[in-house]
Amino acid sequence: MRRFQGLLLALLLSPLYAAYGAVVIVRAIVRLYRFCGRARVSLAREVHCQNGHPNATTGRWECASCRAQYHGWVGRCRVCGAGASWFPCSTCQVGIPLPWERT
Ligand SMILES: [Zn+2]
Ligand SMILES: [Zn+2]
Repeated sequence: MRRFQGLLLALLLSPLYAAYGAVVIVRAIVRLYRFCGRARVSLAREVHCQNGHPNATTGRWECASCRAQYHGWVGRCRVCGAGASWFPCSTCQVGIPLPWERT
């Protein structure tokens, strides 16, 4: 009888376990989707300023943290490793927030 009760309890709890499993899976999918979205914008060759000027994400930059000049991808300083959150438009100097810094 006790064994039967245990089985009944497991049967009653199984939908809860299933629901928990579904939550974990959905959460993992959402995380993966967000990661892919961020990777996609990080790999974008150019971003546009508010006035629509195209700006390459690779080039010569000055780090706002250590003031070093570095060459390459705008997102991270090659010297001190600080992440950039914005850079000025090469045409009109309007600040362009980097899309992958916004979560
Ligand atoms: Zn730096
Ligand atoms: Zn511009």
